[in-house]
This record gives sequence, structure tokens and C-alpha cells, in this order.
Amino acid sequence: MSDIKYDVIIIGGSYAGLAAALALGRSLRKVLIIDNWEPCNKKAPHSHNFLTNDGEKPAAIAFKARQELAFYETVKLIAGTVVKVTQKGDQFEIVTADAQTLRTQKVLFATGLKDIMPAIPGFAECWANSIIHCPYCHGYEVYQEKLAVFGNGDDGFEFAKLIHNWSKDLTLFTNGASTLSHVQEQKLQEHGISIIQTKIIGLDSVNNQVRAIQLADGTEHTVQAIFARVPFEQHTNIPQSLGCALTISGHIETDNFCATTIPGVYAAGDNTSPLRGVANAVANGTMAGVFINKALIDEAF
Ligand SMILES: Cc1cc2nc3c(=O)[nH]c(=O)nc-3n(C[C@H](O)[C@H](O)[C@H](O)COP(=O)(O)OP(=O)(O)OC[C@H]3O[C@@H](n4cnc5c(N)ncnc54)[C@H](O)[C@@H]3O)c2cc1C
Repeated sequence: MSDIKYDVIIIGGSYAGLAAALALGRSLRKVLIIDNWEPCNKKAPHSHNFLTNDGEKPAAIAFKARQELAFYETVKLIAGTVVKVTQKGDQFEIVTADAQTLRTQKVLFATGLKDIMPAIPGFAECWANSIIHCPYCHGYEVYQEKLAVFGNGDDGFEFAKLIHNWSKDLTLFTNGASTLSHVQEQKLQEHGISIIQTKIIGLDSVNNQVRAIQLADGTEHTVQAIFARVPFEQHTNIPQSLGCALTISGHIETDNFCATTIPGVYAAGDNTSPLRGVANAVANGTMAGVFINKALIDEAF
């Protein structure tokens, strides 16, 4: 085991983790970030809706943040995968995949989420390019184009209603029998949104750009982009193995100060919030940094 004891070890060195490290490093805390660089937006060519970096490449935003952090001798970042965290009294022992064992007073999970691709041929290839999860991130780039929404039931209705703000040339694909209510179907039709219930068998695409949705009845529907919300899972189950509670939606449960249900363990970013966006991850990471520092001050003062 390393003799160095960190004040805080941050697992995950993307937007939330790096923002937390900045607040903590500037609070004179000895911080270690461990990251294996698999952020959820890795495949996205550009990132939008984050002030001062609108349209920047996702990795370039993180790279700038890492350059800024390099200025602080209080903050260290290493490439690696954390495989185990164990509580040892009022401290934590952290083990990495290359068998390093490290000690820390507080742990922050900024580990993000993993999106689960549906079994539709061509979907995974187009994801992050022409299959879009969020209109605030990528809606402006396809506004007034011929768009599809994948969804059904209440979620599908709400998503189609939202995307209608960006394009009136919109079709909702329920990929099987509609579970929309009669009122919802009527409302969509009133707004010119067609509903197609036929099963989707694949996507026709070129260079990750979708061209058409292929249906089981042999028809094809040309589209410029598809909006889809896919299921997700936590990037790592270490928080659960430590005893951290999850919410019903599958996020790590935290209070208003980013503390999980296990004392000394914090979480920030996508892993705690349905509002997925870089700005939110940065804000949440900053808040985690501030409140972890406050907890350390309160314990020592
Ligand atoms: C396709 C796509 C496009 C998007 N486009 C935009 C956009 O245009 N604008 C916008 O604002 N938002 C966008 N988002 C949302 C945005 O990417 C996320 O909100 C943001 O990345 C969340 O940051 P985070 O730090 O919480 O998690 P992530 O960025 O996902 O990073 C988590 C980090 O933790 C690391 N990690 C996980 N487990 C371990 C472990 N055990 N050991 C070490 N490291 C670990 C991962 O490798 C990763 O580097 C997009 C999301 C997707 C999926």
C-alpha cells in the first residue's frame, strides 16, 4: 500500500470529476483523480450548450480542463481503473486494476453512466452522430429537418412533444404496438406528428449518418436524424458494493450536497442526475468539491 494518504480520491476524470478536483485543489486538498477515459460522449463529434465551449470537441474540453488542473500541485491525475473500494474505519482503501492500493479520507464517484444500445442493426454505429439523446445538445444542428423519435407510451409522447419544438417534419416510431393513450395519439396527430407502429428491423446509414429507417413490412423511411433515449447503467457497481443507495431511476442517491447514503462517499455528474449535460456535470462536480472540503473543515476544526 502507498504511504501517501489523500484527502480525496476522485474516481472518474471527466467533466464532473475534473470540476470537483479544481475546487478541492484550490482548497489546498491533496487530491488524486483516477480515470480510464470512457466518457459517455466519447463518440460525439461535437459538444454543444456549454458556455465558452459551444461546438467544441468533447475531448478538447476535458483536455483544457486537465491543462488547467496541471497548474495545481495539490492535484494529481493518473490513468487507471478502480476495481475496489473498502471502508477502513473513517478512511477508504482504493484498489486499481494494476494492483495499486491507495488511502483516502473521502471518495467521490464521478463515474458517469453507460448507455445500453438496443438490438437494432445500425443503431450503435449511428449513436452520438445521427442518433441523438438530447435536443439541447444537438437539436439546433438538425432543426427543421426530417426527424424521427424512437419511443412509446408516456415517455415517447413527451419526447415527441419536446422534439416538435425543433422540427415539424416529425414521426414517432413506436417499434411495435402503440402504448400511447387515445388522447396522446390524437394530440400528436393534431400537431402533424405521424405515428408508425411497425417493427424496426434496421437502419440504413453511411459513415454513421442515418439515411433511412427500415421496417418489417419492407418499407423504408428517410430521415436526417433520430432522437432516442436508451436505457443506461452505472459505469461501475462499486458504489452499490459500498452500500450506496440508488434511486428508482438507477442514479446514485445523493443529498443536496452530493453526499451519498454512505458517510464519506460522494457522487456527482451523470451518475446522480437525469439532467445529462456537461454544464450540469461541471456544476455538480464543483458543488461536490465545495461540500467535501466543508466536511473536511468541519471534521478538523
Ligand atoms: C452521445 C452523447 C452526446 C452528448 N452530447 C452532449 C452535448 O453536446 N452537450 C452536453 O452538454 N452534454 C452532452 N452529453 C452529455 C454529457 O456527455 C454528460 O452529461 C457528461 O459527459 C457527464 O460527465 P460526467 O463527468 O458525469 O461523466 P462522463 O463524462 O461519462 O465521465 C465518467 C468518467 O469516469 C470514468 N470511470 C468510470 N468508472 C471508472 C472506474 N472504475 N475507474 C476509473 N475511471 C472510471 C469513465 O471512464 C469516464 O472517463 C452527451 C452525451 C452523450 C451520451
